[in-house]
Amino acid sequence: MIRIGIPRALLYYQYYPMWKTFFQELGAEVVLSSPTTQTMLSSGASRVVADTCLPVKVFCGHVLSLVKECDYIFIPAIRSVQRRVYNCAKFLGLPDMTKAVIPESPPILDIDIDVNKGKRVLYQAIYKLGRHFTWDPLKVRRASIAAWQAHLNYRELMSSHSLTPPQAIEKMLGSSEVEPKTHSSHSTSTQGTIAIIGHPYLLYDEHINHRLIHRLEQAGNKVLTPEMLTTEELESAIVKLVGRAYWTYEEEVVGAGGHYLESRIGGVIGIMAFGCGPDSLMMDVVRRQAARLNTTPFMSLTLEEHTAEAGVVTRLEAFLDMIYRRKRKQVEVCV
Ligand code: SF4
Repeated sequence: MIRIGIPRALLYYQYYPMWKTFFQELGAEVVLSSPTTQTMLSSGASRVVADTCLPVKVFCGHVLSLVKECDYIFIPAIRSVQRRVYNCAKFLGLPDMTKAVIPESPPILDIDIDVNKGKRVLYQAIYKLGRHFTWDPLKVRRASIAAWQAHLNYRELMSSHSLTPPQAIEKMLGSSEVEPKTHSSHSTSTQGTIAIIGHPYLLYDEHINHRLIHRLEQAGNKVLTPEMLTTEELESAIVKLVGRAYWTYEEEVVGAGGHYLESRIGGVIGIMAFGCGPDSLMMDVVRRQAARLNTTPFMSLTLEEHTAEAGVVTRLEAFLDMIYRRKRKQVEVCV
């Protein structure tokens, strides 16, 4: 059986159930890299220039960890998944960059995804990818339909049950059942409700963000994330803030930020990577909106290779402390 390696980094969090379904339907075995470790990060960082963004360094570390584990590595070049909305340049050149910096990598299975070129080109790209496994176009078609359905189920599971991508992946690919989202689930927190916004590869990689979600939950907070919102909620927030999205995945920053700031929850934390051009622009839109509304506290955290755990903890504690004091004051005024 052909073994396909998938790095647990970058777009893994958005598309893993879809990719896994596609390859399994075509009879391949999927090998997923382990969660990020310091060794992975250091090995990945050693292959690229210093000012490469942290998520790409992490990605290279995951590819290196898969080198002897699989026959091919799947690395798509995702240019655009929405008309006239463009992806960060790092995603466009990901297969070529990986070939250049990790020459010992197994052959790379890549696919160009660019919806601006039309459906016909997209379908041709999918068939070209499927031909590594079968010459039967109907089998590739069935695999792509099953994969798309898995993706829709994944999105729906996250928004309807308030799950993060790692939780939803576990529920979908494991066997446990999930409880439907109820209003009471929002009121179980003892301290407050905090939203974290940013790309999934920053929010859910516990090694690089120093277990941010866990720390917030341990402090008694309910944590909300972009995936818990519906596409309509995200799009409507983007329309209000910037008119139309320019960057792919803008909904994870501007859409979620705009929505949660208007929801008047306890606070919003924006997570971004040092040296990331798109994020610095998008996070600035959210920061300005927070200042304009002046109703919901906002803090941005920038992650890089050398970000110390103590630094993240100190900023987090100071932010939470400010939110709790604000909440107490509001209660006193009401009394
Ligand atoms: S969007 Fe930013 S963090 Fe993500 S890959 Fe591009 S430069 Fe890196």
